[in-house]
Amino acid sequence: MLGALTSPLTILDHSRRPGRMVYPVRSRRSRGISVGVNLFPHKKICDLDCVYCEVDNPGDSGAEPTIPQLRAELEQLFEDVRAGRLFAGERINDIAFSGDGEPTISPLFGEAVEAAIDVRARLCSPSLKLVLITDALTLHRAPTRAAIDRLMAHHGEVWAKLDAGTEEYFKLVDRGHVPLSRQVQNIRDLGKVYPLVVQSMFLRLHGEPTPASEVDAYVARIRELVSAGTQISRIDVYTVARPTTEAWASPLTDAELDAIAGRVRDAVPPSIAVETYYSHR
Ligand code: SF4
Repeated sequence: MLGALTSPLTILDHSRRPGRMVYPVRSRRSRGISVGVNLFPHKKICDLDCVYCEVDNPGDSGAEPTIPQLRAELEQLFEDVRAGRLFAGERINDIAFSGDGEPTISPLFGEAVEAAIDVRARLCSPSLKLVLITDALTLHRAPTRAAIDRLMAHHGEVWAKLDAGTEEYFKLVDRGHVPLSRQVQNIRDLGKVYPLVVQSMFLRLHGEPTPASEVDAYVARIRELVSAGTQISRIDVYTVARPTTEAWASPLTDAELDAIAGRVRDAVPPSIAVETYYSHR
């Protein structure tokens, strides 16, 4: 999930280390280090099957991740930072729940949030941001909501995916088994309580850019969300930047992405930042 907005620290290695739950990346958005938490280091587990997915986890390693493993890896990383062995002179921007699947469907998600809050308070700054990058399909479930409440009480931020304006395009691009209306309703309901970041992927399918009618429908969805009182702090309009699951899913040009971002800017109040992330780094 995080791949579209970040790059691994080692330029030549575009995969997270097999079996490891903690993976620092250099964030395109913050120009700092993001400490990724992957709750699926053993295999990709997601409730979507996006055509543009950049997860390159090849399969089941057999080793289930655990909370003690997560604590140990986070502690080691922050101890290395404190000792000056890692990231000298670079700012750590956040701890981000992302990785090889949808974090909120992991049975470890709630405990993982608690572990991050605890390790951060002991070994880092308690004000370091905690970010959840989510497809928003389970935000209505009680355990997910309880974990998000904890996250938001501890300098949290939720980045929610919204890639489509129509059910048809949602099925085509995100290939989910639940309706788009579920995702939109979850974003609306959580956004009435907490300000959210919305992340939206636009891309070329079989060589064709996002249809104008689909951009219209997406902009209408955003307008509806804002009119319904959804608090949105930022909308990230981005395109493909790394190898995708489907070879026929490819990036928009900068000009195409700028045109979509312009449409979104015109549709929302100026207080909502609209940022673009192009295919090149
Ligand atoms: S939500 Fe889509 S892009 Fe993110 S991990 Fe799942 S399939 Fe991949």
